[in-house]
Amino acid sequence: MKLSNYFLPTVREIPSDAEIPSHRLMIRAGMIRKVAAGIYSLLPLGLRVIRKVENIVREEMNKAGAIETLLPSIVPSELWKETGRWDFYGKELLRITDRHQNQFCYGPTHEEVMTNLVRNEVKSYKQLPLNLYQIQTKFRDEIRPRFGVMRSREFTMKDGYSFDCDEEAAAISYQKMHDAYSAVFRRSGLRFGAVEADTGQIGGSASHEFMVFAETGEDVVVSCSKCGFASNVEKAEVSPAVINPNEQVPQLPIEEIETPDKKTIGEVSGFLGKEEWEFIKTLIYTIDSGKEHIAVLVRGDFEINEPKLKNLLGADEIELASPETVKDITNASTGFAGPHKLECRIVADNSIENMVNAVSGANRDDYHLININIGRDFTPDIVGDVRLISLGDPCPKCRDTIEFHRGIEVGHIFRLGTKYSEAMKATYLDTNGKKKTIVMGTYGIGIARIAAAAIEQCNDENGIIWPYSIAPFQVVIIPLNIKNSELVNSANGIEEKLREAGFEVLHDDRNERAGVKFADADLIGIPIQVIIGPRGISNGEVEIKVRATGERRNIKIEELTDEVQKISVKLLES
Ligand SMILES: [Zn+2]
Repeated sequence: MKLSNYFLPTVREIPSDAEIPSHRLMIRAGMIRKVAAGIYSLLPLGLRVIRKVENIVREEMNKAGAIETLLPSIVPSELWKETGRWDFYGKELLRITDRHQNQFCYGPTHEEVMTNLVRNEVKSYKQLPLNLYQIQTKFRDEIRPRFGVMRSREFTMKDGYSFDCDEEAAAISYQKMHDAYSAVFRRSGLRFGAVEADTGQIGGSASHEFMVFAETGEDVVVSCSKCGFASNVEKAEVSPAVINPNEQVPQLPIEEIETPDKKTIGEVSGFLGKEEWEFIKTLIYTIDSGKEHIAVLVRGDFEINEPKLKNLLGADEIELASPETVKDITNASTGFAGPHKLECRIVADNSIENMVNAVSGANRDDYHLININIGRDFTPDIVGDVRLISLGDPCPKCRDTIEFHRGIEVGHIFRLGTKYSEAMKATYLDTNGKKKTIVMGTYGIGIARIAAAAIEQCNDENGIIWPYSIAPFQVVIIPLNIKNSELVNSANGIEEKLREAGFEVLHDDRNERAGVKFADADLIGIPIQVIIGPRGISNGEVEIKVRATGERRNIKIEELTDEVQKISVKLLES
């Protein structure tokens, strides 16, 4: 491919709205352009990477016995109503009305459509197991799309669904996908781990997320090197036994103290000379768009884990209450809430259960309570595990020390059981002719996220360093002076030779300064650079540079193809 005939608009300036390296570099390398918030065009270089990732995914899915299909992206509301998700899914579901006033959604995931297909076609145990997948455009109306294609609203996803006779067979299908996903991420050149995860809006009995480890990741993984436990921090259980340093102290009388303008725990603790663990943090939450408002209590040095809270309450949606609601419920501004004489349901985290003489808001502006005690001064309606695991907590499996890492979720697999098949009456006849419900699994991979995650893991100050397997081209040829006809002929010859040997070659034949060409080659991250200069040519030599290591050396032109071959093998293995 001659660069002069290609469409590769690289950019020197760092885009101002791009917060993470992959977003910045995908724009600068001419891979993507924004059309609207969370909606991007893929330019040719970006599309080449996406196609590479898709091919790896396709190969591994097919190898694991999954079969490719393609479902519509626009889905009638009836199917979503059968499972109850039309109401449950919330505002992320982009709803559309057609000219006949029929309601549709732009599919964010396809359990309903695939289950509908299978229930209409599968009648007998003889047709199971069945594993169907597609690679397709999805839409989720994210409240805050950001990080480029990492958290976009429109995105390409591989979604797959397994259908089995029973839980035992479903477990085998799940393991096959677990293995296939590991192979996909390994082949894509990523450092990753599979961790236990919350089942969230998809539902089901068990799930794993595949996390690419990167400092810029939005997810936090907690792990234990002793027993191998690894979990999304949102899912990790916390041991109920929290030891409070003052557990044995006698209870003192409750007292209201003036704390003018001191709202945060940090401010109040400084003012009162108390530690953060002596505080009861009280947050007011709104449940299911205003159906109820509740107070949630957690020890001052811990954080509330919203997915756990949502699961405990069996709620569809929870959010922190607005300042107006807080005022309605507590008679005070945000920052002064406390459980004493509060007239709403109270959910308490396990961590406050044995607190003695705690500090809390007084439900009165500019006042806090000291020596507030559970059982005497307030009684929670529910006590449970609703907090995030934190650094001082023991491993939930073996009680050893835990560690935290940041990660990017690139894949997610779920054991669904019969959640969807029961709702949609997807059944089969077993060997005795008895009607049984199909057992399902669902499996997703974010295609563009793999590309973005690879950039997060592999980049430097000059640009992207593509893993060899998903690089848009494998070799870039850089002739330094295109006015030198000997040099141009040589570059053309090398391009043809490498292409015939099976390499994907980008030939930078532009009439540009050497510095511009070098900068662009580093920016777009092609693994192997072949630099052709006038001095080398007179000796029958070119220079090879390996992008990942910066290693450069001169090679005889007749040995070039073999050398590129050798470097490729080495890069693929690394
Ligand atoms: Zn452990």
